[in-house]
Amino acid sequence: MMFEPTRRAGLQRLARFAPHAGKTYTSERNFDRNRRAAAVSFLSPYIRHRLVSEREILSEILAHHTLKTAMPFVQEVFWRGYFKGWLEQRPSVWSAYQAERDASLLDPLPNYQTAVSGQTGIACFDHWCQQLRQTGYLHNHARMWFASIWIFTLRLPWPLGADFFLRHLQDADPASNTLSWRWVAGLHTPGKHYLATAENIAKFTDGRFQPTGQLNENAAPLIEEKTHPIVPITPRSPDLPTRALWLMTEEDCQPPPDGAKPAGVLGIVSPDATGFAINAVRHAASTANGQTDVGHNWSTAICRAAAKAGTSDVICAHLPVGPAAAGFAKTYQNLAAKNIRIHVFVRAYDRHVWPHTTKGFFKLKKQIPALLRDLDL
Ligand SMILES: Cc1cc2nc3c(=O)[nH]c(=O)nc-3n(C[C@H](O)[C@H](O)[C@H](O)COP(=O)(O)OP(=O)(O)OC[C@H]3O[C@@H](n4cnc5c(N)ncnc54)[C@H](O)[C@@H]3O)c2cc1C
Repeated sequence: MMFEPTRRAGLQRLARFAPHAGKTYTSERNFDRNRRAAAVSFLSPYIRHRLVSEREILSEILAHHTLKTAMPFVQEVFWRGYFKGWLEQRPSVWSAYQAERDASLLDPLPNYQTAVSGQTGIACFDHWCQQLRQTGYLHNHARMWFASIWIFTLRLPWPLGADFFLRHLQDADPASNTLSWRWVAGLHTPGKHYLATAENIAKFTDGRFQPTGQLNENAAPLIEEKTHPIVPITPRSPDLPTRALWLMTEEDCQPPPDGAKPAGVLGIVSPDATGFAINAVRHAASTANGQTDVGHNWSTAICRAAAKAGTSDVICAHLPVGPAAAGFAKTYQNLAAKNIRIHVFVRAYDRHVWPHTTKGFFKLKKQIPALLRDLDL
């Protein structure tokens, strides 16, 4: 297994990576090399499920480097928060993606099967396809090249590519994945797309791949008719009850904020979750002496766990846009009818970052030093 789904493994990985997050990361991060020679952190599955939080990662990195030296890495961590906050304020992007994906799956193009089985004849693409299936991970540059070849050379619908990634990535994330695919297509920043070139691939794979003459290097960006209105968010955190069932989810395996003392623990995971997500929640919940329920009929499991813990209060970190939030919306109503009170809190990191994610990343980037100060980092 490439990623052990435990907090301990995430913290060990962070400790090993932190000394290299400055100059080495800055100069080498764009090279897609084998794992031993790679300069990137491989922390994404741990951050995605908050086995290790953004705050913990930034704190460790800034203990080893000045902000100036570590800025390229720090910015990447903030890209994640940017995408999460952006999608939170434009939930119709997620529902439109799901609708387009379902429509495209009804009548997939003939080269769809060739692409997802890694038999296109474009050696680099076929290699990344197998790598993704076998390891659940691709380097960021490989994800960009893969998505670009999928959209502009193979002319396949981007939602099918995003769906393929979501089903195989161990860090599969509704926001980072959907918005990155849209960014490559030219839909996130309208008119600006990402075109993979043979020269760039040869350079950043150390010449392992040279797809000269195989790629469409002159395609125009995709265009979207739909508009996605902003839905304002007010990320607040209520006072939490002192005795409550603590609900752990695939979105957040961290303990509740200080002061909230769980009377019991239950992990819940949506049926769409990857193996890493399921095992991460299972392990985190059992470490805190709790059980885990996989599925979308969470009401019964929550009522039972709350009764066992002797409480009618449940505390849970906010579920951002995605399958878990959709499943939980239904559960929420069922629980209200059974007099179970759910107290949802938003982590301080999200409360600080999300208000700056209404436009492009640059707006958030300018705030990074102030945000780090506000977060005591
Ligand atoms: C088409 C496409 C799909 C993607 N799908 C996902 C996804 O489902 N889940 C996911 O976590 N990331 C996704 N990314 C972003 C990025 O590729 C991965 O986060 C990164 O490759 C993870 O490897 P790492 O932890 O070694 O990265 P590092 O370079 O070590 O970065 C550290 C952390 O910063 C964050 N990060 C880095 N780059 C990005 C980025 N471009 N956007 C958002 N966050 C970033 C991640 O949390 C990452 O763990 C996608 C990118 C593309 C182009």
